[in-house]
Amino acid sequence: MVSRVIPVESFDLVIFGGTGDLARRKILPGLYRRFCAGQMPEGARVIGAARADHTDDEFRKLVADSIKEFVPAGRRDAATIKDFAERLHYVSIDARGDKGWSALAKLVRKDVIQAFYFSVGPGLFGDIATRLHKHKLAGNEARIVVEKPFGRDLESAKALNAVLADSFDENQIYRIDHYLGKETVQNLMAVRFANVLFEPLWNAQYIDHVQITVAETVSVEGRGAYYDKSGAMRDMVQNHLMQLLCLTAMEPPSKFDPDAVRDEKLKVIRALDPVPAENIVRGQYGADKDGDSYIAHSENPASKTESFIALKVDISNWRWKGTPFYLRTGKRLKARMSEIIVHFKETPHSIFEEDAGSHANVLTIRLQPDEGMDLRVTIKEPGPGGMRLVDVPLDMTFADALGPDAEDVPDAYERLIMDVIRGNQTLFMRGDEVEAAWSWTDPIIEGWQQRGDQPKTYEPGSSGPEDALMLLHRDARRWREIRK
Ligand code: NAP
Repeated sequence: MVSRVIPVESFDLVIFGGTGDLARRKILPGLYRRFCAGQMPEGARVIGAARADHTDDEFRKLVADSIKEFVPAGRRDAATIKDFAERLHYVSIDARGDKGWSALAKLVRKDVIQAFYFSVGPGLFGDIATRLHKHKLAGNEARIVVEKPFGRDLESAKALNAVLADSFDENQIYRIDHYLGKETVQNLMAVRFANVLFEPLWNAQYIDHVQITVAETVSVEGRGAYYDKSGAMRDMVQNHLMQLLCLTAMEPPSKFDPDAVRDEKLKVIRALDPVPAENIVRGQYGADKDGDSYIAHSENPASKTESFIALKVDISNWRWKGTPFYLRTGKRLKARMSEIIVHFKETPHSIFEEDAGSHANVLTIRLQPDEGMDLRVTIKEPGPGGMRLVDVPLDMTFADALGPDAEDVPDAYERLIMDVIRGNQTLFMRGDEVEAAWSWTDPIIEGWQQRGDQPKTYEPGSSGPEDALMLLHRDARRWREIRK
C-alpha cells in the first residue's frame, strides 16, 4: 500500500515563535517530513519570526539541528535537510512593537497562500492578529493558526475571539487541537460513519458507558507557574478530552464538511449536564522517593491546583441519556496512555450455562502509544470441554495493518498544517465550540473554588487517587487499567 500525497498549492508559512520549543520539536520537523513526502510545492517557503536576531543561515542551522534531534535517523538525510533549509527564512520581529513588521511585509508574497502560525504564548495572539491587519500583511484568503490555550475561561475566550474577529473572518481562523489530527481520532469517525456495524448500536440502549483516559507520566517540571493557573481541567479536559467526547458522542453529520462536523460537536457540548461535586475527583501528586512533588514545582506551597481529574459526565439527549462518559487525565501517572473505551452492554439473555463465561463487547480506540483499535468479541474456547466462552480481540493496530507504511503516517501536526494550507477547517475548533466548552467548564471550576475543595494527594507512578476508582466502583464499573 502506498500512502497518498495530496498536492497543495504554493505557500508562505510564517511561524511566529519559529525558534520556540513547539516549533523546534513538532512544526518544523513535521514540515521537513512533508517536504520529503513531496508535499511542499516549488517555491513554498517557511519564515521563522521571533524577537532574537538571527540571519537566515543561523535559522537554517537551528532547524537542521531540530530535524536531527526530532526526526528518526532512518527518516532523514543530509541532502534533503539541505534542500529543505533553502526554503527557510527568518525575520526578527516583536509581536508587541514595530520592529520587523515592514521587513516581514516585504518578504511575504501576496500571490500564494499565506498562513501565519501563532506558536507563541497566548498573551501575544491578539497583538499578532492586530499587527498583521495593521500592516496589511494578510490578504482575504490568509489563514491564521492559533495554538492552545484558547482563553482560560469563557470571558477571556470571548475576548480573544473578538480580537481575532476584528482582523479575520471565522473561516480564516484555525484553532488547533492536535488531538484532532491523530490518525485514530479520524478513524473513529470512519469506523462510526463508514460501516453499518456500529452506528445502529451506538446509543444508550446498547452502550453501557464510555471511558476516556489521557494519562501522562511527565511532571509539571519547568511549567509550574503556568500550570498553577491552569490545572488539568483547563489544560486537558476543556480541549482535548472534550474533543474526544464530542467525536464519540456526536450525531452523524450530513456530510464530512467543516461546518457540518462542527455543528454536531457543538450540539454535544450544549447537551452536557452540569457536573455535581460527587461526580468530580481532583488529585495532586505527592512526593516521590526523591522528594519531587507537584508542590516542589509550584510557586505556591499551598497550591490547590489539580494535576489529576476524573469526572462522570452525563449527556442529556435522546441518544445518550443513561450512558455516562467517565473522563480522567493526570500527570505523573503509571504510564503514558490515551484511549477511548466503549463498553457495550451484555447480551439481554444468555442461552449458555451460567458458568460458561460471558463478556460484553468492548471497543478500544488507542491514541497513544500504538495508535489503533481493538474490538473484543466473545467466541467459543477452542477444543473439547463443552461450550466455554472466551473474549478475543479483533485487532486493528495500524502498524500491523499498514505494514512498513505505518511509519509514514503523518504526525498530527503535519496533517493539520497541510489542512491549513488546503483550507480545510474540519479538524479545527470553531469559535462558538470553544466558547460552549468554557461555558460548561467554568461552573465546574467555580464550584470547587467556592466549596474550597482540596485535591486528594496521589502517589507518583500510580493510577491517581483512590476516590477516582470509587467513582466507577460505586456504579459497579471499573476503569481500564492504566498500563504501558
Ligand atoms: P517557547 O518555547 O517559550 O517559545 C516562544 C517563542 O515565541 C520563541 O520563539 C520566542 O522567541 C517567541 N517570542 C516570545 N515573545 C515574542 C514577541 N514579543 N514577539 C515575537 N516572538 C516572541 O513556547 P512554546 O513551548 O514553543 O509554545 C508556543 C505556544 O504553543 C504556546 O501558546 C503554548 O501554549 C503552545 N503549545 C506548546 C506546546 C509544546 O509542546 N511546547 C504544546 C501545545 C501548545 P524570542 O524570545 O526570540 O522572541
